Amino acid sequence: MMYKDRAFSLPKSRLMRWFADPNQDAPFEIRAALISSLYGTLPIFIGGVANTVLVSAVIAARRPEPAFLAWFVFEVLLCLARTCLILIAYKAADEARETPTDLYLVLALVWAASVGAGGFISLLSGDWVIAALACLSSAAMMGGICFRNFAAPRLATAMMVLSFGPICLGAVLSGELIMLLTALQIPFYLYAMSKAVYRLSAMLVSTMRAERDSDQQARHDELTGLPNRRFLMKAAQDSAALPMVMALVDIDHFKSVNDTYGHQVGDIVLQKIGRMITAHLATFGMVARFGGEEFALIAPEASVHEVVQAVRGLLEEVEKTPIQAAGQRVQVTLSAGIAYCGPGEGLEQVYSAADTSLYLAKRSGRNRIEVAEWSRKAGSDAGESRRGLRREVS
Ligand code: GH3
Ligand code: MG
Ligand code: MG
Repeated sequence: MMYKDRAFSLPKSRLMRWFADPNQDAPFEIRAALISSLYGTLPIFIGGVANTVLVSAVIAARRPEPAFLAWFVFEVLLCLARTCLILIAYKAADEARETPTDLYLVLALVWAASVGAGGFISLLSGDWVIAALACLSSAAMMGGICFRNFAAPRLATAMMVLSFGPICLGAVLSGELIMLLTALQIPFYLYAMSKAVYRLSAMLVSTMRAERDSDQQARHDELTGLPNRRFLMKAAQDSAALPMVMALVDIDHFKSVNDTYGHQVGDIVLQKIGRMITAHLATFGMVARFGGEEFALIAPEASVHEVVQAVRGLLEEVEKTPIQAAGQRVQVTLSAGIAYCGPGEGLEQVYSAADTSLYLAKRSGRNRIEVAEWSRKAGSDAGESRRGLRREVS
């Protein structure tokens, strides 16, 4: 998903939450990604801040009066504060700590107000060179504000109104009749830009939503809703640094369920078995539909012993519970192969060991569990417990 690299905190205060709201129904992770996007596009941030500091500096140099000097000093302090805040927020996000998002948004609004105030006092000065400079600067900020903050359309609109609105008032109060045209133009311009911001935000949210849905689909099995093989193997790779137990669970003689009752009943049996496996094993880790009528559990940091116990409970329940499917009572049994790998050991090996054990369970009569023999680290605690469990059957 977009903007996923760093996680920035959602604002806490009611007012800032209102400003940052995407104005449409969006799940938490999309809201979090939208907030993170407000911290992005740093070149626009740097360009905007540098521009306002420079313009206020040039105007203060031309008119070293208290109001312009104060504006310049304020812009410099604000620039320093916002830069420090961004650095602090990036560091906090990198370290998975809370970021000062409320203050970040408040300072963005204060900066916009300061740009607008500078334009206002410049228009009232009667000096048309500085008035033109300040108005041009405010107008130039509009694109940047819109592009940088459209993920939060209320904030972007407020920033545009704060930085450009006072120019409107200044134009009216400037005493120059011709400036009334500007006073008429600005509200239309702000309205159009705000519309654009809301539309961009809606497009962004729907793109993120589509991306999230297709991500979800790509990682899950349609029939059972369980994670699919690819998702499970990816999760197993991500926890490869941990010791891990893998269990493969396969429905016995499932082909004959299809042959006897039809494919539709077979599908319902798969769904119900998927739910039973989840109920018994999901506390240990991730349960997935590994393929056809085969399911898998990866259980990082679980002991072989506890997984064997849980799988045995599962096999016993399935054996004595006929499955109701489309008016039929279908009795099935399961076979399971279980293997263990130590931290950093190959995922392929543990899978292959679990698969061999499953094959053994099938060959030895089905409706039973086989645990892979411990080949490495013999003598370690894990090895002892595994050897003790070798040929454990249900
Ligand atoms: P074993 O005890 O050796 O595992 O025998 P089995 O019949 O369960 O295994 P086999 O691999 O011979 O057959 C698996 C069957 O699972 C064949 C296939 O039609 C069925 N199957 C796979 N996916 C689905 C599915 O999504 N829905 C249905 N209804 N059947 C499926
Ligand atoms: Mg089978
Ligand atoms: Mg199979």
